[in-house]
Amino acid sequence: MKKFLFYVIALFCIVFLIPSICTKTKRQAQTKDNIENVEETKSTENNDTSTYPKYNYSNFATIKLYHSKTGEIEELPIDEYLYGVVSAEMPVKYDIEALKAQAVVARTYTIYQITHSNGKHGDADICDNYACCQAWISKEDRFAKWEEKEAEDNWQKIVNAVDSTQGKVITYNGEVIDAFFHSNSGGITETASNVWGGQNFPYLQSVETSGEDEYSEYNSEVEISKEELINKIRKKHSEIEINYDEQDSIKIIELTESGRVKTIKLGNIEIAGTELRTLLGLKSTNFSFEIRDNSIIFFVKGYGHGVGMSQTGADSLAKQGINYEDIIKHFYYNVEIVGI
Ligand SMILES: [Zn+2]
Repeated sequence: MKKFLFYVIALFCIVFLIPSICTKTKRQAQTKDNIENVEETKSTENNDTSTYPKYNYSNFATIKLYHSKTGEIEELPIDEYLYGVVSAEMPVKYDIEALKAQAVVARTYTIYQITHSNGKHGDADICDNYACCQAWISKEDRFAKWEEKEAEDNWQKIVNAVDSTQGKVITYNGEVIDAFFHSNSGGITETASNVWGGQNFPYLQSVETSGEDEYSEYNSEVEISKEELINKIRKKHSEIEINYDEQDSIKIIELTESGRVKTIKLGNIEIAGTELRTLLGLKSTNFSFEIRDNSIIFFVKGYGHGVGMSQTGADSLAKQGINYEDIIKHFYYNVEIVGI
């Protein structure tokens, strides 16, 4: 009996306590009411499983991939396409559970693009440009970038990540989600509405992830001369004037809930943090700055828009012993992972 109790307690620790100690998420701070709502939504989702056949995996067997450099459209099996996406999007040295999470996220992203196509790529389903859809690399090009003696093992690791999760996608209320992902969250992810405006997606909430600071993508700096800053902003805002002698000539006006710059004042104008990020090529909108004698230096945390799964965060969680399904559920709120 004592032994049985011990196993029950041990199982409880593995299932509930360890993941919650390893990762702190905002959702843990929810009120009881919210938790009850979540339970209610979950039970509705379970009843929706009859809707999954609309995502029959065989309907997505062939992908029409637009090559952005050559303008050609290549048809290839979806899993083969996903090998090229996972190996282009995530370093192969990352933990296998992180690679599996990336495989499921990439598959979900692909199917969402196909089912919500607005003809962005003509006859093609998706393109190989990371800034537009998601990155893709051919096996031949991938092998050329790896050490020869490691290439075959590396490729097998990628194939394993995709094949062992075959047909698995992420759903919310029975619908495939728009599975955004990025490189490094700087410790906390961002809601979609703070990046692209409009309504927020219920499954894209801000969550904290421990261990992001261990990666080289976490910290970066950009130094720019006072004159160059004005010149770069002037391309979009011809009226800009900055008198650096004035106090608060540059000032952060508002932060988002995750601590990223929402609005910043630059002399006589105010612009969105996302716009400044684009104009200056900052790695994220999670930045502070310092005005020096002749220049401004931006201290940036994280890499990417910050929405959805953080790839370094996924690897960090995997290294803490968390499996790919729980990694996905950490970054996408109240979702299910289903086989289609
Ligand atoms: Zn595209």
